[in-house]
Amino acid sequence: MTEKYDLIVVGAGSGGIATARRAASYGAKVAVVEKQHLGGTCVNVGCVPKKVMWYASATAASIEHADDFGFTIDKSGFDWSTLRQRRDAYVERLNSIYATNLEKSGIELFTGHARLSSPTSVDVGDRQLHARHILLAPGSRPRKPAIPGAELGIDSDEFFQLSHQPKRAAVVGAGYIAVELAGLLQHLGTDTTLVVRRDTPLRGFDPLMRDSLIESMAIDGPMLRNNFTTASCEQRGESLSLIGEDGKHLDGFDTVIWAIGRDSATDDLGLENVGITVDEEGSIPVDPYQQTCVENIFALGDVTNNGFPLTPVAIAAGRRLADRLYGGFTNRHLEYRDIPTVVFSHPPLGTVGLTEPEAEQEFGADQVRCYQTRFVPMNYALTAPENKRRSAMKLVTVGPEERIVGIHIFGEGADEMLQGFAVALRMGATKSDFDNTVAIHPTSAEELVTLT
Ligand SMILES: Cc1cc2nc3c(=O)[nH]c(=O)nc-3n(C[C@H](O)[C@H](O)[C@H](O)COP(=O)(O)OP(=O)(O)OC[C@H]3O[C@@H](n4cnc5c(N)ncnc54)[C@H](O)[C@@H]3O)c2cc1C
Repeated sequence: MTEKYDLIVVGAGSGGIATARRAASYGAKVAVVEKQHLGGTCVNVGCVPKKVMWYASATAASIEHADDFGFTIDKSGFDWSTLRQRRDAYVERLNSIYATNLEKSGIELFTGHARLSSPTSVDVGDRQLHARHILLAPGSRPRKPAIPGAELGIDSDEFFQLSHQPKRAAVVGAGYIAVELAGLLQHLGTDTTLVVRRDTPLRGFDPLMRDSLIESMAIDGPMLRNNFTTASCEQRGESLSLIGEDGKHLDGFDTVIWAIGRDSATDDLGLENVGITVDEEGSIPVDPYQQTCVENIFALGDVTNNGFPLTPVAIAAGRRLADRLYGGFTNRHLEYRDIPTVVFSHPPLGTVGLTEPEAEQEFGADQVRCYQTRFVPMNYALTAPENKRRSAMKLVTVGPEERIVGIHIFGEGADEMLQGFAVALRMGATKSDFDNTVAIHPTSAEELVTLT
């Protein structure tokens, strides 16, 4: 069977669906091919189930904190399977909303594995679809290490299938997914160790943010084990051990979670049939307009090495691509800079723009001036000194006009606070713009407009 479209989208994840719907809104005839669940990584095994569990773990932390305000609350009775069941039901609702939205947009959905057979055709099982444009948005998948015993551990996809709460878990990795999974497990009551190969988690983040996170972990976990290169994983009796390259070992885990990175999902995509070769990271190279080396084939999201493997980035790139191809916006494309992002640690950490070291490298140290603060938010005013948590904020400015090129926030509310400040940064706000903005009191956010 042969079908003809304006656009075939491979992958119904964040980027694929956004592109398809925007293209269809301009009247394009669109087909989407998806081999698993609608919504892709974010909805099924990423942002959404993660954030639901983060809310649960933040609730646990609030219950513990309640006695500072005079409550006597016994934190007991948390039921992992109830949380999992409700979380999964929510995800299923989202899956069906996606299906309805595709249908409403007049997009044809094909279920199965898509494979390029020529620059203008895609095979799905025994069907062949033809189109003027093809978009590759197959995302990425979690990587397991190539070490003995790796199969004893689980990856982030499998984490979301756990039917029982781990009692003692090791999360191996240093990126945001590792930090988030370790944090939420710990706060839900799992004794958790974050195992990091080098000297700190979140290496690319501003040093003040990293130090603040590490200080916070020292108060109530997860336990941080730095400088541990895992050489193997072994079953020892009832439990799992991680053996380091130096022969040291970490013992007694019932669950080991690998969060060591993700690989672009380019396997069996038929790239060889159209002459697309992947880069050294295994990603599909694209130009600023998301075009691959084949004129009518585009790629976006996590399958490309854009430096920002995030849902809103895939969505923004896809909508702009559709605007350009079908909406008449000839130069529309995403600028991959000043993209705000949040790590859902405990408390969260938000960042947009350049870190202090990045700014110094780009503009020269003499051009960079930073303003920063660490403070105890009022939420901990009544808390015993040893349990008080500190928030941290930093503004990175450049030049005599002190244009703000980086905003970094660690502390409760950072996740919701950052979005608006990111708008200011993109608009070219200077330190004096921040100084001239009247504070909202009493909040943590006011610290950002009162820095000296
Ligand atoms: C644990 C975790 C937490 C995350 N948290 C956040 C967060 O808080 N905020 C955030 O912004 N981002 C988060 N992300 C990242 C975010 O999920 C991804 O950046 C985003 O989903 C990428 O979108 P995409 O469209 O590139 O690919 P995906 O959403 O991965 O979609 C790709 C789709 O393509 C399908 N597919 C692949 N190959 C084929 C094929 N050959 N044929 C047919 N279908 C195919 C896949 O089944 C999948 O459904 C998280 C990721 C993980 C793993």
